[in-house]
Amino acid sequence: MTIAAEDMIEAAFPAPAPNEMAAPYWRALDEGRLTFQRCSACANAWLPPRAECPRCLSREWQWATASGAARLVSWVVYHHGYHDYYATRLPYNVAVVELAEGPRLISNVVDAAGKLAIDMPLRLTIQREAGVALARFTPASNQAK
Ligand SMILES: [Zn+2]
Repeated sequence: MTIAAEDMIEAAFPAPAPNEMAAPYWRALDEGRLTFQRCSACANAWLPPRAECPRCLSREWQWATASGAARLVSWVVYHHGYHDYYATRLPYNVAVVELAEGPRLISNVVDAAGKLAIDMPLRLTIQREAGVALARFTPASNQAK
């Protein structure tokens, strides 16, 4: 059975359903800032949002805003659409990105023209998908152009 392109385009965006802990992260992204948590006891920084420091279990932490500088840790390229919403974008990458401040997140590297490399310097670019602000990254070398 084949699926018509029109049907794939109409597939709903799999929007995040933030819990109370993650709501400030998504609000900040919507306002144009990528935030993470930093422990007040040991200075560890992390994503995704959670109630206690994953290193020392302290519940004393604060939100901090990322500079936008990052590096590419790893990635895969999807050639099969596991969700209809993304089926028209194949192939696309799913990347592990490490912020300059330390936290890692799963994201996409966009406008990379297939030239991904381990440790490649990246810059944050906040893009909207069906009205939802998402943290994506672009090669830092793109900014020189
Ligand atoms: Zn800590």
